[in-house]
Amino acid sequence: MKKHVFEKSKISENIRGKITENAPLGRESWFGCGGSADLLFEPADFDDLAAFVKDYPKTEPLLVLGGMANTIIRDGGVRGCVIRLGKPFSQIEVDGYTIRAGAGALNGSVAAAAAKVGIAGLEFLSGIPGTVGGALRMNAGAYGREIKDILRVCEALDIGRGKRTFTAAEMGFGYRSCALPQDLIFTQALFEGAPEDEPGGVRHRLRAIKELRRDTQPITEKTGGSTFANPSAEALRKAGLPENLRAWQVVERVGGRGLTIGGAQMSRKHCNFMINTGDATAADLENLGEELRRRVYAEFGTDILHWEIKRVGCYNKGDNL
Ligand SMILES: Cc1cc2nc3c(=O)[nH]c(=O)nc-3n(C[C@H](O)[C@H](O)[C@H](O)COP(=O)(O)OP(=O)(O)OC[C@H]3O[C@@H](n4cnc5c(N)ncnc54)[C@H](O)[C@@H]3O)c2cc1C
Repeated sequence: MKKHVFEKSKISENIRGKITENAPLGRESWFGCGGSADLLFEPADFDDLAAFVKDYPKTEPLLVLGGMANTIIRDGGVRGCVIRLGKPFSQIEVDGYTIRAGAGALNGSVAAAAAKVGIAGLEFLSGIPGTVGGALRMNAGAYGREIKDILRVCEALDIGRGKRTFTAAEMGFGYRSCALPQDLIFTQALFEGAPEDEPGGVRHRLRAIKELRRDTQPITEKTGGSTFANPSAEALRKAGLPENLRAWQVVERVGGRGLTIGGAQMSRKHCNFMINTGDATAADLENLGEELRRRVYAEFGTDILHWEIKRVGCYNKGDNL
């Protein structure tokens, strides 16, 4: 079988971005555990990204990641190359009630920029860790609003087709999902807010979100946000459960609160949040999630819990894909 170990020496000398071999991605992820990427590329700008992708062999694995706030990097690491859009993609520009943000900008910085000039409607972003790129892919949302409600248009690099733009309607947004092909690399977004309803209203809501998060979520722990997506009404109906049950309530029903495997634990504060209590491996985290899925299946005879957290890479070092 062909080994997917890509070498830095195969990349053109004209690339201006930063290339790191054996990049310790896992420890930089929100969970703070997991393996390394064979290669990490942080482009200098859009053209640099396009040039790199053009050079990069189509047969080798390529993955784009943002803040890794929604991702478990498996212990064996990621074969091929991971692209992360850093500082060169983190610009934020305000024009009237629109905000243009690079895909590497933090959601929290976008919310803060909107609040500074009194643009309403983007407050929900303040409590969602990670980058604009990750938020576009995940249709991130909270408190009844999601990316699809504020996105006007976004820009992406389509491998093989170059720069493309997509309107919100073209993104195929669903619950924590976007239907566009996985190999698209989002590079920029144009969001639209609204005039502030009352002076200081936006800042007030930002403060309220901060307090709510602090009181209800284990935000000081190493975590990845909601482990499982909220189940669909249809799945719950099939299981004979109330149609408005949330994922955390399903976890609770199978004894998930505080459930621990190795160093991984379902938070006692919010039992749909998984935490690394200190020395968890990525396998501990994934096994804990799978144990809950098994329990739910055994109890209700149907699959209700589906991972919201992405899991990427190989289980063991030296594995191929
Ligand atoms: C404490 C905490 C609270 C959270 N609360 C919420 C919440 O309320 N609501 C919510 O929706 N989420 C929440 N999350 C999850 C997470 O913040 C979001 O999913 C966020 O959008 C992930 O962004 P990221 O940049 O970290 O993406 P990553 O985890 O790095 O990647 C997530 C996905 O996006 C893709 N991706 C990343 N960047 C790009 C890009 N430039 N182009 C194309 N694809 C890309 C990756 O391939 C991957 O599939 C929470 C997480 C934590 C840790």
